[in-house]
Amino acid sequence: MSSRISYDFIIAGMGCAGLSMAMQLISSKVKFDKVLLIDKDLKNKNDRTWCFWTKEKNNWYNNIIFNKWDSFIFKSNNFEKKIKLSPYFYCMIKGIDFYSFCIGVIKKDHRFDVITDSIIDIKSENNLGILTCSNQTYQSKLIFNSALRTQKIKSNHVNYLQHFKGWLIKTSEYDFDTNNPIFMDFSVDQKNDCRFVYIIPQNKNQALIEYTGFSPNTIDDDEYNYELNNYIKNNLSIKTYQIIETEKGSIPMAESKFTNEFGKNIVNIGTAGGNSKPSTGFTFYFIQKNCQKIISQLEKNKNKIIASSRSKKYLFYDSVLLNVMNDKKISSKKIFIDLFKKNSPVNLLAFLNEETSFVKDLKIMNSVEKLVFIKSAFKIILKH
Ligand SMILES: Cc1cc2nc3c(=O)[nH]c(=O)nc-3n(C[C@H](O)[C@H](O)[C@H](O)COP(=O)(O)OP(=O)(O)OC[C@H]3O[C@@H](n4cnc5c(N)ncnc54)[C@H](O)[C@@H]3O)c2cc1C
Repeated sequence: MSSRISYDFIIAGMGCAGLSMAMQLISSKVKFDKVLLIDKDLKNKNDRTWCFWTKEKNNWYNNIIFNKWDSFIFKSNNFEKKIKLSPYFYCMIKGIDFYSFCIGVIKKDHRFDVITDSIIDIKSENNLGILTCSNQTYQSKLIFNSALRTQKIKSNHVNYLQHFKGWLIKTSEYDFDTNNPIFMDFSVDQKNDCRFVYIIPQNKNQALIEYTGFSPNTIDDDEYNYELNNYIKNNLSIKTYQIIETEKGSIPMAESKFTNEFGKNIVNIGTAGGNSKPSTGFTFYFIQKNCQKIISQLEKNKNKIIASSRSKKYLFYDSVLLNVMNDKKISSKKIFIDLFKKNSPVNLLAFLNEETSFVKDLKIMNSVEKLVFIKSAFKIILKH
């Protein structure tokens, strides 16, 4: 159709995945003349903070890492452990720094068109990806989509959310330990659920404090506010503080797979492409790895691009953990305490980043209540 505008590639969605894809394309050997990047939002708000761990040193996003640490703290009521992370670093990137940096670089590259518009439909037709937006229709051989998410929900699947609300607070009463973020603090009331707080210090008097749950549904804003205030006042003994920023969100922790309903010319990336790890919600690192895999296929001129980087092994482990959490035969708090108490931190971090051999996996499995996990594993084998 002549009214469609053609591109070599279209990147639908300019969040973490879309912008990561564009940044990795720019520094790749892939040959292209014109790429369209499209999002309904201007991406000019600090709407999220990304934390993740990596041992790779030369990342394209190094300049926008706000802070990185070589240790963090895991704690609960009767247990506290400072965890040395080497060779990993725990990194924090502010959403607004990420968006501004990427869009700045992309806009300087004459091969990219950056457009703000609402995507209405994505489909494959006559060996082309077609992107219909409110104001215009575009076409390309490949569309990288992170904007529209489709999921095949099955009633016997465990589909949780990692849901959270965080306050960036400023206080003169308390000295945050700027050398050690709190990765998870389970010393909060579990409410027969999985609840914890994490703390990302920004400086001595300023930190992001996030109240987090792993559960089927989010909780009311009033409950988040109560729990955050309760934690700050009673666990940290801070009487007066100022809230500078608020962050709220949820991430799918889903046994039900994200699917591609858009046909063969569409490659789903980001959460839409199944890059949110079902047992933890961590996504940033998996998005980077997935984009790398796609780019290397493009560099080799592969005809068919395989979108997902998730291995069946880890998807199975994730399902087992989700089912164990849901069955509540043992508390999630105990599972995480066992994991952090009994394992070498580097093995555990590698396991959570999906970088372990089967022998190392067995060591991790040996640290939790095996019978409960084995029963859950059989249950999953039977239902899939
Ligand atoms: C508040 C928050 C904090 C998080 N923190 C972490 C963390 O610490 N570590 C971690 O690993 N993960 C974290 N995540 C999870 C994950 O990394 C992020 O959700 C990440 O942004 C997912 O990337 P994405 O590109 O798939 O989705 P998004 O970043 O949400 O991007 C999707 C884009 O599509 C656009 N879009 C949607 N619909 C349309 C439409 N119809 N038309 C046009 N554009 C559209 C949206 O505007 C958006 O820009 C967090 C998530 C949230 C919400």
